[in-house]
Amino acid sequence: MQTWTTAAYLIAALLFVISLAGLSKHETSRSGVVFGIAGMTIALVATAIVALGSASGLGIALLLVALVIGAAIGLWRARVVEMTGMPELIALMHSFVGLAAVLVGWNGFLEVESGHLQLAGSLLGIHHAEVAIGVFIGAVTFTGSIIAYLKLSAKIASAPLMLPGKNVLNLGALVVFAALTVYFVITPATWVLAVLTVLALLLGLHLVASIGGGDMPVVVSMLNSYSGWAAAASGFLLGNDLLIITGALVGSSGAYLSYIMCKAMNRSFLSVIAGGFGATTSSAAAVEGEHREIDAAGVAELLSNARSVVITPGYGMAVAQAQYPVADLTRKLREQGVEVRFGVHPVAGRLPGHMNVLLAEAQVPYDIVLEMDEINDDLAETDVVLVIGANDTVNPAASEDPGSPIAGMPVLRVWEAGNVVVFKRSMATGYAGVQNPLFFRENSQMLFGDAKERVQDILAELKTREPVG
Ligand code: NDP
Repeated sequence: MQTWTTAAYLIAALLFVISLAGLSKHETSRSGVVFGIAGMTIALVATAIVALGSASGLGIALLLVALVIGAAIGLWRARVVEMTGMPELIALMHSFVGLAAVLVGWNGFLEVESGHLQLAGSLLGIHHAEVAIGVFIGAVTFTGSIIAYLKLSAKIASAPLMLPGKNVLNLGALVVFAALTVYFVITPATWVLAVLTVLALLLGLHLVASIGGGDMPVVVSMLNSYSGWAAAASGFLLGNDLLIITGALVGSSGAYLSYIMCKAMNRSFLSVIAGGFGATTSSAAAVEGEHREIDAAGVAELLSNARSVVITPGYGMAVAQAQYPVADLTRKLREQGVEVRFGVHPVAGRLPGHMNVLLAEAQVPYDIVLEMDEINDDLAETDVVLVIGANDTVNPAASEDPGSPIAGMPVLRVWEAGNVVVFKRSMATGYAGVQNPLFFRENSQMLFGDAKERVQDILAELKTREPVG
């Protein structure tokens, strides 16, 4: 049985590695998901068989009930979740991993206390260190993810919490944690673990609450990383090699993704993981001016005379589900000999790769979907840029106003193009809550309304201009 389980775990671990490799490219992402599902199925079945072999009647019943309830909730949520609701769902799931790690840690401690697990000398010390570290990472992940969930679902404001001496508070919490862990290893007492748990819960809450709207994408991938390390810590306590491997894969890939996103957004990785370490309150310059409006017929006219068009999609395209008419518009313009390309900002939308997923879903060819760095230098030569539901990712204040909360973040320089049409419903700000001077530029025009309906209107206008017969 042991050999079979080890073999199953090894195959599952290999499938997870292949899955991650697949997920790193558009073309192979679907097969990446299939490998991941296969790996998780093997892992679940092998773990359930091992557990069933050693559990009591009540244990088996509880395991089966938990499996059925968990699978039912998982299937239901996955079926009903909107693409725009994915980030908060992911944040909520990270919180479950954190909570599980806390429970596994406490269980590891209580097993020793109740005499169910007997360990001698140094082994006991190592066990208690694993308990303290597992509970700490799990609790930070738990409350951090709940705050991320509340911010992403707009249930609380996305502005950073600026407590006086917040960096000292965070560093102090880490020092107290280290001291409590040493004390707990020497004198394992329930109250020490309880204090450590409360401290970690408060630290997780404060770390994420201190980070502002514009940095939330990094926070989501960072919590993904923390949830991996929390799972790995549980793996050590449960003696489950697969959980250690899977946790380490999630932990390291999440950390690397956070690092890439910090680089893309010109943010300090250390500052973000330390809860906005070094960040100061910023005050953006007031944005004033007159905006100009355009209607669908006007946009159709602009497009009919254009040789090159760039579309920069953002969160609003996801909300409106405008990707399908946008793909139709792209096809139509290309048929008419217009060069159409997409410029995708690394944090456009509400989760990494959000826009790429939507465009792939609508069958926009991959080779015309370019990243921000690939398209930015061409924007000055572009006749028309269609900004479809994007706001923060095309905000010139990021490069022009040092006092802006998003100062320093690279953005798509759409204002350099000949004409810019901004599709949105109002003059409201984007996720970071920052005013956008783009709307008042001389070459910008606003096309108000739901992005899907407006793109459909433009398609209808273009149709009326087609030669009859
Ligand atoms: P923004 O959130 O800055 O702006 C989206 C715009 O879409 C809004 O201004 C809104 O204006 C408009 N909009 C909403 N619904 C519609 C609709 N139905 N039709 C037309 N327009 C609509 O989007 P961006 O993609 O430019 O930027 C992403 C932001 O989200 C960044 O600040 C990023 O840091 C943050 N973020 C990104 C994550 C990621 O992983 N990618 C995760 C968490 C946060 P109006 O209401 O007037 O219509």
